[in-house]
Amino acid sequence: MSSVDDAPFAAEPRDDRAAGHVPPPPPGYEEAMRLALAEAERAAARGEVPVGAVVLDEEGGTLAAAGNDREASGDPTGHAEVLALRAAAAARGTWRLDGCTLVVTLEPCTMCAGAAVQSRVSRVVYGAVDERGGAAGSLWDVLRDRRLNHRPEVIMGVLAEECAALLTAFFAARR
Ligand SMILES: [Zn+2]
Repeated sequence: MSSVDDAPFAAEPRDDRAAGHVPPPPPGYEEAMRLALAEAERAAARGEVPVGAVVLDEEGGTLAAAGNDREASGDPTGHAEVLALRAAAAARGTWRLDGCTLVVTLEPCTMCAGAAVQSRVSRVVYGAVDERGGAAGSLWDVLRDRRLNHRPEVIMGVLAEECAALLTAFFAARR
């Protein structure tokens, strides 16, 4: 990274950061985000972009956890969120994940935001903002698009500094 301002992964959206009106995330998702961060760290150790995701059931129990595996699998859809949603659906025996919460270290891309909508999760919680590709408020807001009839609740900024730091360090090391 040539400067901090060039980093695409941030703890808060750039516009709102200046204005200072991003509310702090509600408590209760740090523990799940720690699990997602552990998945992201394992992904980094495998040479994958460090993004991790978990799916929680209605009671907050962990249904599934996954990290990116696109390099190992050669699968363009091998993002942490898709893998975690797939595993959660397999665990439940249905594609419908009503009442569940997807927790992910980085703002979902269009594919993963679409997968979250399709899975009918009730909530999406993410850490770092992806200013170059985020589809949950940065470039697009697929999750809260009023034209879609399923719109999960969105909570951002949980352990955002740690989530962003992991990504920034990974890409810095690859230069
Ligand atoms: Zn994605």
